[in-house]
Amino acid sequence: MINLFCRYCNKEVEAVITDKVFENGTLHKQADCVECGLYIKYIADETKPAVLYFGKYKGKTMEWVAESDRDYLIWLGDQDIKNRLKEQIRNALTNSTVKEKPQIIMPAEEVPQKSLWQELYGEGK
Ligand SMILES: [Zn+2]
Repeated sequence: MINLFCRYCNKEVEAVITDKVFENGTLHKQADCVECGLYIKYIADETKPAVLYFGKYKGKTMEWVAESDRDYLIWLGDQDIKNRLKEQIRNALTNSTVKEKPQIIMPAEEVPQKSLWQELYGEGK
């Protein structure tokens, strides 16, 4: 519980926090007034699992994709994306209970130098 200012009650009130997924896939906590029940504000939530905000798994957590379509996440991790996103993907792949190599056939010349694949599985594949 946190205290926030409710403009309807015109005072500091306790806020009820619930999880919301925005249309762009990002997770936020929504704070509502415990007294009048009305919306106060959104609070960005860094503790929640990272969610993909684009592509075919938009709205899914990294963890979910790591379990369900590991090769997609590895492929994505090797694309030209933001470092923060790369870090989230690396964490999801590392923490995933699924560890085996995905069944993908990629010509060796298409594997980038020091790819996420190599980092996870070494050179041979
Ligand atoms: Zn209120």
